[in-house]
Amino acid sequence: MKQVALITGGTRGIGLGIARQLALNGFDLALNGIREEKDVIPVMEELRALGKEVIYAQGNIALLEDHQRIIEKVNTHFGKLNILVNNAGVAPRVRADVLEVSPEDFDEVMDINLRGTFFLTQSVAQWMLKQKQEQPFESYTIINITSVSAILGSTNRAVYCMSKASLSMMSKVFAMRMAEEGIPVYEVRPGVVETDMIAKVKEIYQERIQTGLTLEKRMGQPEDIGKAVAVLAKGDISYATGQVITIDGGMTVERL
Ligand code: NAD
Repeated sequence: MKQVALITGGTRGIGLGIARQLALNGFDLALNGIREEKDVIPVMEELRALGKEVIYAQGNIALLEDHQRIIEKVNTHFGKLNILVNNAGVAPRVRADVLEVSPEDFDEVMDINLRGTFFLTQSVAQWMLKQKQEQPFESYTIINITSVSAILGSTNRAVYCMSKASLSMMSKVFAMRMAEEGIPVYEVRPGVVETDMIAKVKEIYQERIQTGLTLEKRMGQPEDIGKAVAVLAKGDISYATGQVITIDGGMTVERL
């Protein structure tokens, strides 16, 4: 049976790594992002070459008025949605000390990473419930991409850490509510992954990795996260709703 996945922020970085792995595992894709459709054509073509249907559902997840348009685009094209991957997220524009964070920077990060993601999930979850009533044998899954910053604090990225800690709780609460409906919800928690998000601090992280930040001495790659998401989306880890899958090269393994 055809299975459709919507990935927010799915056209680059970790989202694209997830898109590739889901396509390789047989999922049709709806990619969300803020860029114009014409600017993501090469990415869509690359993914279509893997043999699956790929559409673009443009929209800013921080704007609640965009959510219905994103969902409608998926519904009009595929008539269904099995997997939601909440991947879109931003780091603060300025790495300001916690004592200097401005209300504008606070709102920007929270509106995308938490508020937008929460309300999009709410709308998609309602749609999934409706679909499940009509198609009880289809499977539905929600996967939230958080960060090790959900549990590891940084004083110069306080709001990011707070947004990811809240997203982690959001994942738990949705897991509790959706379990009643037979829909699992998971959190995937990446460590340092080589994408545009960390480009400016790449050298610092590379040095820290060589001096023991992680157990596996390399940066994470988008595909590392994509493979974990694909396993969850396929239902290959069962009886585990609400769990956190940490993909961080061993960064958060407690050690002496
Ligand atoms: P990235 O900046 O390369 O990609 C982020 C994607 O989200 C982009 O496609 C961007 O256009 C999209 N996006 C941003 N704001 C959006 C909005 N308002 N509406 C729709 N799309 C929006 O970053 P990445 O490293 O690929 O990050 C992806 C996710 O992984 C984020 O949630 C991030 O917090 C998380 N993460 C990243 C790392 C890392 O080291 N790179 C580590 C842990 C967690």
